[in-house]
Amino acid sequence: MTINKLEFICPFCKGDLEEDAGAFRCPKCEKRYFSLSGIYDFTGKFSSIQELLRSDGKARLLYEGYDSHDHKGLLKLEEEYNQKWRESLPQEIQELYAGFSKGMMERGRQRYDQAKAAIRDFGATTGHGSALDIGCSSGATLFHIAGEFGHATGIEPAISKLIIAKKYAQENAIDNVTLICGVGEYIPIKSGSFDFVHALNVIEHVPDQQKAIGEIHRVMAGGGVLCFDSRNRYDIFKPEPHVKVRFVGFVPRGLQGRYVKYMNKMEYEGIRLLSCFELSRLLRPLFGGSFKVMFPRLTDAGTGFNTIYGILQKVPALSFVFKVFFPTYQVVAVKR
Ligand SMILES: [Zn+2]
Repeated sequence: MTINKLEFICPFCKGDLEEDAGAFRCPKCEKRYFSLSGIYDFTGKFSSIQELLRSDGKARLLYEGYDSHDHKGLLKLEEEYNQKWRESLPQEIQELYAGFSKGMMERGRQRYDQAKAAIRDFGATTGHGSALDIGCSSGATLFHIAGEFGHATGIEPAISKLIIAKKYAQENAIDNVTLICGVGEYIPIKSGSFDFVHALNVIEHVPDQQKAIGEIHRVMAGGGVLCFDSRNRYDIFKPEPHVKVRFVGFVPRGLQGRYVKYMNKMEYEGIRLLSCFELSRLLRPLFGGSFKVMFPRLTDAGTGFNTIYGILQKVPALSFVFKVFFPTYQVVAVKR
């Protein structure tokens, strides 16, 4: 099944799909994958749009308000919906999420610029062909990527985010983007399809990280570039960003939930920060020596700090120490 030059396959068995009354069907898995106003649902969880919308209040609200709201209006609808569940969270976390959508596109551009700088530092080139943005949310980086590539695909588990992305594409007459509801462990696209794969703050939220890296490698074309960033497990400089508690990564994984609960009364579920050692163990079997864990350039920090930081990166021993304990890292890998 080819759409926008992308060949869709069953994300679970990787078999070919058949068309079935406006949806796709995998004859082997007997699963149906349907499209919601041009967003392809490949979660395999729902057999109809109605079933999906019944299960997700936020998606239903945005879907029903789609025609009567512009992009800004949909973001406002989402914000109002989010405020309700946020009330039970600690104040500092509420502040973190409030207004998150403001300046979203500008932040997305900055993050994509950082990714491009990391790719240049690694000595790789990209910027043509087909791109994939994993965990694209409502498209903050996806649409900047689409501006530089022939085609861009965004995959994201929250369909509500994709409804907002769809609106942005429509309002800005962007026609080279495909939106897929799904996850990194099960990418519904034929092997070797992408020249560039990007993932912003995603890998720590992926339940099966090894499987996701394997899938990413599978869908990359030979010579394709992967760039992603995440927070470091052994960060000594900043609190864990999702719960604002320090040194979570130093607690054994089995006890991290209890530690966070004790410190901040929050649940610590669905987050698994990786150290640079754990990352290397994930990447080496697939990418061999053609990857690098780096720390990102700080475009929003003062220039003085940037200079010190730039010098430190060039001193191998210091660079290593920073990589182990620095808050964030960036990974660039090339498929050979
Ligand atoms: Zn299948």
